[in-house]
Amino acid sequence: MLGPPPSALYTRLSRETFSAPPLEGAAETDVAVIGGGIGGLAAALALRRAGIATTLLEAETIGAGASGRNNGQVIPTLTRHDPAAVLKTMGEARGERFLAMLQSSADLLFDTAASYAIDCDAARSGWIQPAHTPGRARLAERRAAQWAARGAPAEYLDAPALAARLGSTAYCGGWRHAGGGHINPLAFARGLARAAQQEGARIHEHSRARRLVREPDGWRVEAPQGVLRCRKLVVVTAAHTDALWPRLRRTIVPVTSYQLATDVLAPTVAARILPGNEAASDTRNDLRYFHKDREGRLVTGGALAIQAVARPRLERAVRARLAELFPELAGADFPFFWGGRIAMTTDRLPRLHRTPDGLIGWIGCNGRGLALAMGMGAVLRDAVLGARDEDLALAPAPLTPVPLHPLVRRTARLALIHYRRKDRTEVPL
Ligand SMILES: Cc1cc2nc3c(=O)[nH]c(=O)nc-3n(C[C@H](O)[C@H](O)[C@H](O)COP(=O)(O)OP(=O)(O)OC[C@H]3O[C@@H](n4cnc5c(N)ncnc54)[C@H](O)[C@@H]3O)c2cc1C
Repeated sequence: MLGPPPSALYTRLSRETFSAPPLEGAAETDVAVIGGGIGGLAAALALRRAGIATTLLEAETIGAGASGRNNGQVIPTLTRHDPAAVLKTMGEARGERFLAMLQSSADLLFDTAASYAIDCDAARSGWIQPAHTPGRARLAERRAAQWAARGAPAEYLDAPALAARLGSTAYCGGWRHAGGGHINPLAFARGLARAAQQEGARIHEHSRARRLVREPDGWRVEAPQGVLRCRKLVVVTAAHTDALWPRLRRTIVPVTSYQLATDVLAPTVAARILPGNEAASDTRNDLRYFHKDREGRLVTGGALAIQAVARPRLERAVRARLAELFPELAGADFPFFWGGRIAMTTDRLPRLHRTPDGLIGWIGCNGRGLALAMGMGAVLRDAVLGARDEDLALAPAPLTPVPLHPLVRRTARLALIHYRRKDRTEVPL
């Protein structure tokens, strides 16, 4: 069981189904992929399309991790680093490659959904980031300009334009990326598994990799009912990374985030909120975010510093926040509640790891990993195919543990208190 409850809403709405038998007995493959979220599935699909024999093992069912539990917002940007910051941090040449991968990541997701007819309520209607202070509106303007200069369909929205897009006058402006949108992520994960299978990947659910054993010509993966031998191993277990690769587990901090969905909104209310059907997530660290599902519920969520009695406390907090934005939702009920775990890195950048003995993985979506996972699938494929470190879109990083990892793991959610204080403080205008 992967922590908080899974999404009954996405399960109910998903017209994609998927099931696969556990790994039984002895099997062989070129590449074993561990983890059946969008990250592992994108890698399996990319590997198969390159003609490489690939077998994917998922501990539970496809999409059981963050991939079937998130807010479904497809956003081809990072949470913290704008293009200029990426270039500064990664250097000009690598930064350019990384940004090209990131910029095309939403295209890849929506194109994959279209070419394999994945029935995931894909709405490529744009993503907007409302700015909650005048200083953040200035930042949004610069952010939009940076992306637009790179050819992305990004535009700044002043306060009236933002209000018209959002259906709320609570913000100071913002920006819009027309390449983003939203999906039912569980349906997408299931459809991606179907696509990978269609391309020849073998997939096994209920097949937790319990141990990785180095062998002379590769690896042996031990699952409860079977053993898989492979040349190379790709591990995309995200916030659910466990003792399988302990050094990887110590590079991130898993953080729980909760989701709520309203009842189906009255048509007049639904027409006023996000009339263009974009996804939206604002400039706060303690994010306010939402999109409408295909039947007209508002799917939203939040985080808690203290997890006890999560549902009623979160409902109260989210109801109050929504009432500030959309007064017509003041008394909203939330019949759906679920949550998931996000893999956070200390600098909010994703990490690629590659060991000399053929162990490859990426981790650290930092809460914005749907589009990124698709782009990283191609990076993992390139790493498997033996691309030189300097040619990869993300530089392989050493497995550096988060300092004081056991303590930070237990206390990370308290950082929310600090972030809420930062949200109340203006940035320089
Ligand atoms: C509540 C929430 C809201 C979010 N909202 C958004 C959003 O709106 N937009 C966005 O871009 N991103 C969002 N994210 C992030 C996004 O969900 C992730 O970036 C993305 O799903 C990560 O996919 P993944 O495949 O890397 O990880 P996961 O989906 O977590 O998959 C990892 C898989 O590995 C499996 N596994 C673990 N250990 C083993 C093992 N030993 N053997 C076999 N299998 C194993 C797990 O069962 C799991 O299925 C959100 C995340 C959460 C939790």
